[in-house]
Amino acid sequence: MVHAPARPPAGAPPVRINLYSDTQTLPTPAMKAAMMQAELGDEQFGDDPTVNALCDRMAALLGKEAAMFLPSGTMCNVIAILTHCRPGEEVLAHETAHILSSEGGTHAALAGVQINPLKGDRGMFSAEALRAAIRPGGRYSPPQRLLEVEQTANIGGGAVWPQAELDAVVAVAREQGWATHMDGARLMNAVVASGIPAAEMVAGFDSVWLDFTKGLGAPLGAVLAGPADFIGQAWRWKQRLGGSMRQAGICAAACIHALDHHVDRLADDHANARALARGLRQIEGITVEEPDTNLVFFDPSGTGLEAGALVRRLRMEGVQLSMLGGRIRACTHLGITAPMIEETLALTRKALAA
Ligand SMILES: *Cc1c(COP(=O)(O)O)cnc(C)c1O
Repeated sequence: MVHAPARPPAGAPPVRINLYSDTQTLPTPAMKAAMMQAELGDEQFGDDPTVNALCDRMAALLGKEAAMFLPSGTMCNVIAILTHCRPGEEVLAHETAHILSSEGGTHAALAGVQINPLKGDRGMFSAEALRAAIRPGGRYSPPQRLLEVEQTANIGGGAVWPQAELDAVVAVAREQGWATHMDGARLMNAVVASGIPAAEMVAGFDSVWLDFTKGLGAPLGAVLAGPADFIGQAWRWKQRLGGSMRQAGICAAACIHALDHHVDRLADDHANARALARGLRQIEGITVEEPDTNLVFFDPSGTGLEAGALVRRLRMEGVQLSMLGGRIRACTHLGITAPMIEETLALTRKALAA
């Protein structure tokens, strides 16, 4: 749902404050140094020591038996769904889920599943809503197979699922005999914001992954974790889809560096997001959702200026934002500092006064 930034307006200056996405980070010099020093081997053969170290560490962090390194979060979702489901089966997910809106229809195209879109506030749904989606069974119903949740919920405003809600939807899935999968693209944001350890947060999920390119600052890479037999089957799909790599440790080293140096600092991104929301809220006519983590959604239409027009004006000042539906999204990350937030607020006031 977040599209590539539109071609900049004619005469636009270079982007100085990039709030477009937490994927816009560049590897830091220290991360690049870690990459240069990585011990390497053949990942497909299970012989890359740096990839193996990352996978062991992620399995331990997430409390799962095994883990696999993949190039992207999308491939984690595709492989997980291919492994959990057979064609014709149904996945239950929020109607704004990334698997529904932003993965090119891949789950229909490759796994042959249908996705049942659930409603609920901020990208989350209740156990009651999930229960209401249970089909009667029998030969008319698509077999329901998998519960999928996003943590944090991206289009939901970076919302963190309250643990009790998460446990309640997992309980419904368990009772129905469904598998459970967490799209944890921004899982560490949820962990840092809630203080709940990752393994505890995801204990109810068969499979879970996190993205090292969302706020953690790595140039590529995501890790999918789950039971050993699940990861064993997932390797078949990794091979089939061309996701098996060679000296991938050069990238896994960036991910290990991110675990060591870029997780605790997510709290700074959350503080910057709250400061941005606070400042925007003080501007008459802007409505802002209170951020749980690093995504700030706001609607300036009450000022008389439409979202798209404000985004264009700020782009002319070197500030890049994104648009989702009628709303503007600002995303904080390791390339964004507190003074940049103050400057963004000042430039927003200036754009609205113009
Ligand atoms: C970004 C994102 C993905 C996909 O990750 P890529 O690494 O971009 O393929 C999946 N789910 C959510 C919630 C995301 O934000």
